[in-house]
This record gives sequence, structure tokens and C-alpha cells, in this order.
Amino acid sequence: MISRTHPPTPGALRKARAAPKPANGGSDAERLQALLLKATAEDQLGRSEAAIASLTEALALSGTAALSEVRLRLLDQLADRLYTVGHYREALEHWMACIALAVDLGDIAGYVQAYMAVGGVFDAAGAHERGLQQHERALAYSSALTDPQIHVNVRLYLASDYVHFGRHAEALEILDDADRVISVHDFATHRAETSLHRGMALLALGKTQTALVCLREGARQAEQANHPWAHTMCLMRLGQAHDRLRNPHLAEQVLRSALVLAESGDFKRQQREIQQTLAILFEEAGRAREALGALRATHALDLELARHAPVSALEPHLLKRLDKLDTRLRLELSRQENQRLRETQNSQDQLLHRLHIEAYQDALTGLANRRWLDAQLAEKLGGWQGQPPISLLVLDIDHFKAINDDFSHLVGDAVLRQVSELLRQACRGHDTPVRFGGEEFVVVLEGLPLHEATLVAERIRVRIASHDWHAILGNRPLTLSAGVTEALPGDNAATLIIRADEALYRAKRNGRNRIEAATA
Ligand code: GH3
Ligand code: MG
Ligand code: MG
Repeated sequence: MISRTHPPTPGALRKARAAPKPANGGSDAERLQALLLKATAEDQLGRSEAAIASLTEALALSGTAALSEVRLRLLDQLADRLYTVGHYREALEHWMACIALAVDLGDIAGYVQAYMAVGGVFDAAGAHERGLQQHERALAYSSALTDPQIHVNVRLYLASDYVHFGRHAEALEILDDADRVISVHDFATHRAETSLHRGMALLALGKTQTALVCLREGARQAEQANHPWAHTMCLMRLGQAHDRLRNPHLAEQVLRSALVLAESGDFKRQQREIQQTLAILFEEAGRAREALGALRATHALDLELARHAPVSALEPHLLKRLDKLDTRLRLELSRQENQRLRETQNSQDQLLHRLHIEAYQDALTGLANRRWLDAQLAEKLGGWQGQPPISLLVLDIDHFKAINDDFSHLVGDAVLRQVSELLRQACRGHDTPVRFGGEEFVVVLEGLPLHEATLVAERIRVRIASHDWHAILGNRPLTLSAGVTEALPGDNAATLIIRADEALYRAKRNGRNRIEAATA
């Protein structure tokens, strides 16, 4: 299997993320902006150390609370630079600071991003189990987020882990997953990285020709997307593959191109790995002098990298801190989740309430509607044995059609609203008046026998007839008629209403503005 010491750097991937914007217009913010521009320029010139110095200076300026969001981005960017030049320990410290700050800010996306990157450093430092663990957890966290970049990044890291552990099928599967998101959002830099990892997985599976095509394609995509890190990686793996396939000529050519890229990007770890591969290649070809030169270069790079303490020295302390932060994030996540649930619950309650109102309330008068009445009567009469008594009034406005005709429909509506209001006032708290339809109303009177219900109906009749309708109808009087009935065991909503209706029609026939009781 081809050795893999460098997982993908997420920094280049994150270039698409918004550049830090100063949170206020103060002079610190302006200087900070200038330093960022300087760092970017230095980066492009391959002057990593200078870029790191500028970013460090910018970071010192971003200490104020107003700039914490900017600080988070800066820490991340700086860590990323440190990572690409092989200063893993320093990168780790900055990403740890990122994680801590993200927890303080409640920025889950910032947290997951840095958390993944820390896993990447563990991988690069050879602690692959821990790296995989971080990435698997990041995958779980990322499901709470909608950021497509995070979805892709975490899958790239995991693919790299799976390739390392020989879980090639899983690697290919998760890369397909990532590619689906990539094609939706057209993330060109990510595409180069999926090609890199796919190439690695295919190589390990012995599908050499497809793998070479994949790596070549990755190099082309990386070049097009101006992603020198991925470009270097693809060429380096391609060169190593040619070397294993006993193609020393092609291998040397590709590795030399990779070396040029690694040098101009200041990617020290890749430079070291390429020099080492070249040294072996020259030695096998009997080119002793060139082999010695490559070995010397490898050694010099080793010395330079050794100046930075290895990650392992930091690990126990670091792991403890990381786990603590992780616990805090989980608390924050469950807090945010609870809040979301509460909000969802509230809006669902509101929706239910609205639906309930729409279903059971009459829009014009605000009274309960016929649907509500049917449900109520079914509930009250179902299993009812005759006690306590239940009576029902059906009330109908007299000559209402003439009001519509002589005044207008709008005036008719105003009358309906006013009658409803008078009904509400005339009813006891638990007797709900219902708009049965048109200008007909129903009141269910629980606990009242027929003669008492008739008195209630009479009270309503008088109230309507004696109301001052002047403001709505001028000198025109308004009256209603009503039919009253008492429920008998065996009644249902329909039989009860029909009986009351028959009484109502008797009231109409007998001259209107009167009450008739149904005789059972
Ligand atoms: P009666 O004394 O026999 O009950 O005569 P009426 O005119 O009151 O009865 P009819 O059933 O002939 O007419 C009822 C009218 O009520 C007819 C219809 O246009 C009107 N109406 C029904 N719903 C509404 C409404 O929401 N607003 C208004 N303005 N009029 C309505
Ligand atoms: Mg009617
Ligand atoms: Mg009527």
C-alpha cells in the first residue's frame, strides 16, 4: 500500500469561506484588514513564514470582544498555514484555541471545522486512531449543520482515514457522497481532493489504471482551481505509483514537477517525502550522486521539521483539554437543540390552534360553527342516559332576506354580528351559541329542562327585539323566532335538531317573533 502521511489540508478548501470582515470600523479593524491582505500576498509568493508572521500580528489585534468572530477565522487561517508548512504542534495549539473560542461563541460550524482539522493533525502526526475518532464525531456533529462545505470536508477527512485503515470500499462510498454535494455546489477545489483520495483507494484496491486516471484528473482539477496543495499531492502520489509500477522514467518526471510545486508552496512535509522517494529511485538506478543529493535534502528537511516539537509530546494534556471542550460543545448542542425543539413546538402549537379555529369557528361572527356543534352533540349525547337534562334552541332571524335586499349584504352581515354578540351576552358561561348557517343560530343548554330552556329562548327573543337597531337599520325593527326542544334518551344530533326545527317553523307560521316548544 502506498504510504500516506498527509491528510488533506482543509485550509484551501475553506478559501471559499468569506474573508474576515472587521466587526467595527475602528483603526484596529483597518490595520487588521491590511495585515490580512499582506498575508494573502505573502502566501501567494510562497513566503509562508512571512504570511504566518502577518497573521500572528493580526491575531494580536483581534483580541477585543467585538472582533471575536474575526479572531476565530484568523486562528483558523493561521493554524492552516502552520499546518501546511509542517508545524503541526503550533497548528494544533491554534486550532485548539479556535475550538475554545467557537464554544464560547456558540458557533457550532466553527467548532466542527476546527475539530476536524485537529483530527487531521493527529493523522498527519501518525495518531490515526485518534484522527478517525475525531472525524467520526465531527461527522455526527455536522448533521446538525446545513453548511455544505462542512459536509464535504468531513467526508474528505474520513475518506483519507478509511484509506489508511484499508477500508477502501467505505472510502469510495463516502467520496461518492461528497461528490454529490460537490456537484450541486460546484466546489472546484474539493473536487480535486476527492479525485486524490479516490485515486489512493483505487490504487490500494489494485485498480491501477483507473487510479492513475483519477490522480491525473485530480492534478488537472487542482491546477485549474488554483489549489497547489492538492496539485502537489496528486502529482506526488502519481509519481510514487509510477515508481511502484517500475516506470522510473515517468516517476522521476512527475516527482520533479511535484517538488517544484511543493517548494513554491513551501509544503515542507511533501518536499521531504518527494526527496526521499527520489533518493530511493536514483539509488536503484545506480545514480549515486543524485541519490546522495536527494538524501541530503531529505535530511535537511528532517532537521528543519524537528525544530518543531512533535505532536505526541503534547498529547495527554491536549486530549484532556479536547475532551473537556467536547463536553462543553455537547451541552451547547443540546441547548441549541432544545431551543429549536421549543420553537418548533411553539409554532406547531400555534398552527394547531389556528387549524382548530379555522375548523370550528365561524369567520363572520366568531361564534362556534356547525362542525363544532356536531362534534359537541355527538359527544354529549353518546351514552347519555337522560340526566342531567339537555335542551336545544334553534333561532332564526325574521325576514332577514329583506334586510339584505333593502339595505345591502354588508348591512346584513352587521346584523348577523350584532345578533351574535347579543346571543353571547344572553348565554351563561358554558352555553355556547353556534352559528348554524345563514341567519340561523343554535344554543345547547345543558342542565335545563324544556320549560327553563323556553324561558331562556324568550329572554333572548326580548333582548333582540328590544335592542336599539337604529345605528344599523334605522327605523326597521328586528326580531327572531325560535324552536325549543329537550333531548330524550335515544336522540342523536339530527333527531334533536329536526325536532327543534319543526318547532321553529311553527313559530314562523304562527306569526314570527315568538317561541314554540316541541311536543315530544
Ligand atoms: P324567515 O323570516 O322566513 O326566516 O325569512 P328570511 O328572509 O329570514 O329567510 P330566508 O331563508 O328566505 O333568507 C335568509 C337569507 O339570509 C338569505 C341569504 O341570502 C341570507 N344570508 C345567508 N347567509 C348570509 C350571510 O352570511 N350574510 C348575509 N348578509 N346574508 C346571508
Ligand atoms: Mg333561515
Ligand atoms: Mg330567517
